[in-house]
Amino acid sequence: MQANLKSAAKSAAPLELALIPVLQDNYVMVLWRDGQAAVVDPAVAEPVIDWLEQRHLNLVAVLQTHHHSDHIGGTPALLRRWPAAEVVASRADHDRIPFQTSGVAEGDHFNLLGRSVEVLEVPGHTRCHIAFHLPAERGEGAELFCGDTLFAGGCGRLFEGTAEQMHQSLRRLTALAPATRVWCAHEYTESNLRWAASEAPQDPAIADRLADVRRQRALGEPTIPSTVALERTTNLFARSADAAELARLRESKNTYRG
Ligand code: ZN
Ligand code: FE
Repeated sequence: MQANLKSAAKSAAPLELALIPVLQDNYVMVLWRDGQAAVVDPAVAEPVIDWLEQRHLNLVAVLQTHHHSDHIGGTPALLRRWPAAEVVASRADHDRIPFQTSGVAEGDHFNLLGRSVEVLEVPGHTRCHIAFHLPAERGEGAELFCGDTLFAGGCGRLFEGTAEQMHQSLRRLTALAPATRVWCAHEYTESNLRWAASEAPQDPAIADRLADVRRQRALGEPTIPSTVALERTTNLFARSADAAELARLRESKNTYRG
């Protein structure tokens, strides 16, 4: 009985999410509830520490999608400020994310701020890239933290993986529930959509989205989060029929100067 009351009281506060823009175009995602917070891919520490301290939040977890410095760079300093925080990262990438305290792999589940989190291995940008999926639960919507794999209107560069792997990874991510909010780690949306509109000039969904994104950026607003439904209809990489098409698109985007 007591436990029931306790959990009812616990779930009364909604899970809140926000973005902290850092560096040139990175986003650090923050989730919080009842005074406890988690962050995803802290490129740097100082703006994150300030943000959390202003709101009197206690950092309990750092989630890392992959080992690049613009995703893990702030973690050691966050751990100095909140030494008890867990660092959840790919177990297979232990050498490159050595401060991880909780190594995870495909299919693992863990609890975060009252939500269940599912780990998806999504290689392509790096060989050990993972994504964190929070399925919809008790009236709270689904969320996806996908680092540099799926971008709004684009995908990450193939630094360590193959087009085949990226195609498979994007396929998995865009098979999630359409309403899932997509929190990627960079504000690349306008450039992605400008390129997409040059690739597919007759596509009305892409043209509409480009217009929306231009409006948002002109107002200085983030274009993140996106949704799985929006990526399915306007992301050429996610729409690509096979790995060969994805490879051709990736090459085209790599050399696009628009
Ligand atoms: Zn990266
Ligand atoms: Fe990055």
